[in-house]
Amino acid sequence: MLSMHTSPLEQPGSGDAGGMNVYVAEITKRLARRGAAVDVFTRATSLDQPPTVELAPGVDVHHIPAGPAGELDKNSLTRYLCPFIFGVLRTEAAGQPYDVVHGHYWLSGRAGVTVARRWGVPLVQSMHTLARVKDLARPAAGVSAEPEARLRGEAHLVRSADRIVANTPVEAEQLAQHYGADPSRVTIVPPGADLEVFTPGSRSAALAELGLPTDTLLLLFAGRIQRLKGPEVLIRAAAQLVHRHPELRNRLVVALVGGSSGEPAEPRRLLQLAAELGVRDLVRMDGPTSGTNLATYYRAATATVVPSHAESFGLVAVESQACGTPVLAARVGGLPLAVREGISGVLVDGHDPTDYASELARLVRDQAWWGRLAAGARQHAERLGWSATVDGLLDVYQSTLGTPAQSAPA
Ligand code: UDP
Repeated sequence: MLSMHTSPLEQPGSGDAGGMNVYVAEITKRLARRGAAVDVFTRATSLDQPPTVELAPGVDVHHIPAGPAGELDKNSLTRYLCPFIFGVLRTEAAGQPYDVVHGHYWLSGRAGVTVARRWGVPLVQSMHTLARVKDLARPAAGVSAEPEARLRGEAHLVRSADRIVANTPVEAEQLAQHYGADPSRVTIVPPGADLEVFTPGSRSAALAELGLPTDTLLLLFAGRIQRLKGPEVLIRAAAQLVHRHPELRNRLVVALVGGSSGEPAEPRRLLQLAAELGVRDLVRMDGPTSGTNLATYYRAATATVVPSHAESFGLVAVESQACGTPVLAARVGGLPLAVREGISGVLVDGHDPTDYASELARLVRDQAWWGRLAAGARQHAERLGWSATVDGLLDVYQSTLGTPAQSAPA
């Protein structure tokens, strides 16, 4: 596994660590339990890091020195691709034991093209997010353009990888539409949630654990606090909700769990906005936390709100549902697959806070509606465990073995 710009050992929820880190950690652990030996290569970010760390039995994470120590903007990492590739190839000294190279995000894929070709093994690539799709969401989200090098790199990778793993049919379609991907080389393998960590539980006990009264109506945003994820929509919607239903004011809490990611001023801007809207006292920002703690937040929440402008899948949506908490999500990217509309949650077209406020009002005031969605939530999530993901990936690996077919020049 190549995961150059971020390591599965990192705490997801801030910086560059998010769903992809969870993905790599979860699939590698499970692949190892099925008998695979897995090595993950990531860029060393500190001089103190040991060269190799065991993530789980059968999974080693190798820190490859490539560029200066410290966190670097991932858009600057292209200039360190060569030393990264060189570091990965040095493992040849111990023989070349790999059957398949799996790249995560386009940067690792660019390294993977060279590494897989040299070793004569297939390159399987997971893009995780696509620059062209992100750029389409840009005007509404107010985020900056993706670098040209990424756009070119992704296009090259789509031509070069033996197989692309797409999270959803929507991503497969985006790969074909925006990158001209050959559909026969794209396989859809949905990600999942850890159904043993994310389990339903007592809402009042979870609220108590968070130090909140048991009649609290908790609206949860979990993930990296960045404009593309639309946390502003939740704050504006919550303000409208208490404006329309002042009787909810004493019970409503909005929790944002996660840290900033590439936009250090964003948390402060959101708190400022909450103050301007008169709901600063309702908003708490709790910083990034572990999956186990996050499960407590999901259990405590009345709804998890995922108002993203772009989302290739949305692990948070599945984790929340696995805890029996309905999701209110934007109808973008993979979210319509992650959330079953009207069964496990609600999907909203666009990002108008008024629409979110209306759906939130129904969720917090209509007990029967909430109860139906909460029951459907766990049922839906049960179909999205990581073991199904690993089944799908093993099929992909098996079917590519011995058929490296990279067609484009490195
Ligand atoms: N996450 C976490 N701690 C936090 C916030 C988020 O462990 O404080 C995890 C969360 O459990 C989820 C991942 O980060 O698995 C976010 O994945 P998602 O697909 O929702 O968003 P992405 O980061 O891929 O954009």
